[in-house]
Amino acid sequence: MENKTACVHLQAIASVRQAKQHVCEECVKTGDRWVHLRTCQGCGVTLCCDSSPNRHATRHAEASGHPVIASAEPGERWLYCYPHRAFAAY
Ligand SMILES: [Zn+2]
Ligand SMILES: [Zn+2]
Ligand SMILES: [Zn+2]
Repeated sequence: MENKTACVHLQAIASVRQAKQHVCEECVKTGDRWVHLRTCQGCGVTLCCDSSPNRHATRHAEASGHPVIASAEPGERWLYCYPHRAFAAY
């Protein structure tokens, strides 16, 4: 990582999981819309951000305990840890 961080979760990310498809995997099932996409670094699922109506990425993090997401938006290279509320560029 480029940025020094106190977050053990971000420090543990050796290689960043990228989105397999540029869709929210939950919203596509129900035909809902999303704003931005995030990829879970625990299991690799791609879900929608907190600006989206369903906030699937945050709900997944709370339900699964997977702490870290990466932005799945083109050109964005950052990670976020929910429990530490920590960002890191990569
Ligand atoms: Zn953390
Ligand atoms: Zn969604
Ligand atoms: Zn996950």
